[in-house]
Amino acid sequence: MSNPDSPATLVHAIEGGWRVPGIANLHSHAFQRAMAGLAERQTHPEDSFWTWREIMYRFAARMDPDSTYAVATQLYAEMLEAGYTTVCEFHYVHHQPDGTPYADPAAMSKALIAAARDTGIRMTLLPVLYMTGGFDGRALSARQQRFGHGIDAFLRLIDGLHPLQDERLRIGCAFHSLRAVPEAAMREVLDALPADAPLHIHIAEQVGEVQDCLAVRNARPVEWLLREFPVDRRWTLVHATHLTGEETQGIAASGATVAICPTTEANLGDGLFPLRDYLQARGRWGIGSDSHVSVSPVEELRWLEYGQRLVTRHRNIAVTASSPSVGETLLRGVQDSAADATGFARTIGDEVVLDGDAPLLAGATSDDLVDRWLFAGNRPLVDRVRVAGRDVVAGGRHVDAASIARRYGDTLRQLLRD
Ligand SMILES: [Zn+2]
Repeated sequence: MSNPDSPATLVHAIEGGWRVPGIANLHSHAFQRAMAGLAERQTHPEDSFWTWREIMYRFAARMDPDSTYAVATQLYAEMLEAGYTTVCEFHYVHHQPDGTPYADPAAMSKALIAAARDTGIRMTLLPVLYMTGGFDGRALSARQQRFGHGIDAFLRLIDGLHPLQDERLRIGCAFHSLRAVPEAAMREVLDALPADAPLHIHIAEQVGEVQDCLAVRNARPVEWLLREFPVDRRWTLVHATHLTGEETQGIAASGATVAICPTTEANLGDGLFPLRDYLQARGRWGIGSDSHVSVSPVEELRWLEYGQRLVTRHRNIAVTASSPSVGETLLRGVQDSAADATGFARTIGDEVVLDGDAPLLAGATSDDLVDRWLFAGNRPLVDRVRVAGRDVVAGGRHVDAASIARRYGDTLRQLLRD
């Protein structure tokens, strides 16, 4: 009998390699893969999330179902090659650029679903409700029109997608943020949803967002959400970056998952999640690649730990009394939250195998394998990946990598020309 706490349950030596758990990517905006690396020039001395958002809006305005499909297939193939086997797609670019729904109002959702099906990644599609442009209830700006829904149309969208669910697709729901969804609308949608649908929300990414929430609701976003809604394991709070000690304890006690996106949060200059306090409170968490400036669980987990080391000036932060290995503690963390955050109670037929012949893993044992995978070098070590019994990555490459990359290249050149 294996001890459930022993590393052996995370890592298995098999013929030619090491089997490790497939990783759930809890936060993705697929279209943003197309603008990765294109927002790294200063446009203003005070560049921040808010100036980045202007560039993102210009990119969002160019996407249609075909280009969304082309970008998402490239992204999901890259995710599989990196060892992600499930993606939670936080999808808010629903309509035509002027806000008019497509002939099929679910056309953009279906483009993402097709991209997941064709690449073979498991997907939890999270159609996003986006109604207002700020905490004061102001209307959406012109550039936000294609994100918006009334409640009835939003529930119709979700209802229409439900029959598509299968062993590799779950339909959940997301509220864009407290600033974009009024309280009454949140309640109405929650009442109408299936009780087991995963719920995701951007919660406290920006200091400005916390200040606006305080000004209008006299409470910080996490404080307000925990007080007003029965937050539990069904909820995933994305970018719970700016927290008081009480909020940190409150999320941990609620059973909700925090989706931390270290490379995006670093890229956007958001701030640093209080991981050490949260782990001490036994909080649940996972990772997301969000804007896809990096598509690598290794880099997300490495920088989750390194950020803490840099501010605390200590080493080996993400550990627990029973798990002194940082790598194993991190990998176990993402494993423990995955079922609730994605809605996939079981992921049968999934397998990620690291290359046992890689020099980086020479002489590895099951005790040091995860630390070496996450903290040594930059060569991708994923050799093969299977999802729901289908082989999708072999020799480190997605089985359709060449044709997917060709279509992506054509699409991106077109998007950048327009
Ligand atoms: Zn996001």
